[in-house]
Amino acid sequence: MEAGMKTEGEFNKLLAVSVDAIVSMDERDRIILWNPAAERMFGYSKAEASGMTVSELMPEVHRKGHIEGIRRFLKTEKPTLIGRTVEVEAKRKDGTVFPVELSLAAEKKEGSWTFFSIIRDITERKKGEAEIAAKNALLNKANSELRLLLDVSMAISHTIDMDALLKNILETITTLDLFKVERKGGIFIVDGDKMRLRSYVGHTADFVALHDGMKVGDCLCGLAARTGEIIISGDSDEDLRHTIKSDIAAHGHIILPLKSDGEVLGVLCLYTPTGAVVDEMQKSMLAAIGSLLGVAINNSRLYEKTRELSLCDPLTGLANRRLMYIELERNIAKVRRYGGPFSLIMIDIDNFKEYNDTHGHLAGDALLAEFSALLTVSTREMDMRARYGGEEFLVLLPDTDIKTAQVVAERIRRAAEQKGDVTVSLGVAAYDTGIKQGVEIVNKADDALYRAKCNGRNRVETGT
Ligand code: GH3
Ligand code: MG
Ligand code: MG
Repeated sequence: MEAGMKTEGEFNKLLAVSVDAIVSMDERDRIILWNPAAERMFGYSKAEASGMTVSELMPEVHRKGHIEGIRRFLKTEKPTLIGRTVEVEAKRKDGTVFPVELSLAAEKKEGSWTFFSIIRDITERKKGEAEIAAKNALLNKANSELRLLLDVSMAISHTIDMDALLKNILETITTLDLFKVERKGGIFIVDGDKMRLRSYVGHTADFVALHDGMKVGDCLCGLAARTGEIIISGDSDEDLRHTIKSDIAAHGHIILPLKSDGEVLGVLCLYTPTGAVVDEMQKSMLAAIGSLLGVAINNSRLYEKTRELSLCDPLTGLANRRLMYIELERNIAKVRRYGGPFSLIMIDIDNFKEYNDTHGHLAGDALLAEFSALLTVSTREMDMRARYGGEEFLVLLPDTDIKTAQVVAERIRRAAEQKGDVTVSLGVAAYDTGIKQGVEIVNKADDALYRAKCNGRNRVETGT
């Protein structure tokens, strides 16, 4: 008995109130002391326990180790567990196994050892720990999925150019480890009933030739394009829908339709090891990525369209200044190489401000469109007409010398005059060998136009 503990009665009281099991045993593993908490914890009454060994309080698998542990200690008297607190498994009378925390002490009296243990049932604590671990795992997963969404949106917000965009998307997604995808994949863009493999990583030229231009509906990618559904396929060799066979070894697929406003614009094809599993949460994540990419691709497509459109003036349908300069440079390069003339007419509507003021801006717009039509019928098909600015126009006349250009200019002037709404002033210029850039011939025509204005409007002047 410990110092300060006066009577056995006091000691028994302590045994009785303890919520932990307090058990002692002799050198032969037999139970000597068994408190009420031990009765509750293990289900054996004090009478039952007094005939038992401690080995019987543990699952079968641990018994041998336990016996050997005692034997070793008795031989060496070197403690391994004694004086420490460890987590082990225990077994109740009804056979259930539960986790306990075990603190062990030993005492030698009159040549033989007694072992004392305090046993705490830690079932609840373990359950709590498991719950926390599970919640942590979920949090980590959600965190990495958010990170992934962020990566994807960063990749797509960096660029609007379609080719750069698709490349960025592939680079980002094929380096993620979340879906265990391989460093390989492609993006098809739906083009009518065909699928264009517009961007890819890790594919051979043979693979590209085999897949580019495949039909919507064909193989897994075509199927995703037709149905708009995500396709997860565990094994390309086993999946009957995988109809286009290349010489790639068996693999799994994640195929993601890229949608905008419900329309499938393309398909992202990713590769996984065979048998890869994608859970529901990941699936909804993939759907979110698919929408994100779809919207980005749609924006990029609109941007491409706008760029094409921006060579045209929307009000008149004529070429705009940019396209006119492209054509001028082309004509300069052509005549510098092959010779021959070309000319340019600049036209400015007279007193157009007044027309606007009198009839309103909308009527002014309509007049600009009508004048463009007049310009089109007054010139040859091979000539190029452009709206240069507000009410200024240019006509480029390939293979045309200054004399012919003057005739055309005069024809335009007269047509406007005869129509009767407004008159126009025109400046004519011809290419000469001193001209190196489009802007130089434009300036020459502009100077002539300025003279036409100064000389009373509604007339044609020629640049020198
Ligand atoms: P002048 O021929 O003698 O140079 O006189 P003007 O009045 O035609 O020339 P000015 O440069 O003073 O004014 C041009 C006008 O053309 C002013 C502007 O409001 C009008 N304008 C320019 N672009 C458009 C357009 O797209 N629609 C309409 N309705 N008006 C336009
Ligand atoms: Mg003007
Ligand atoms: Mg004007």
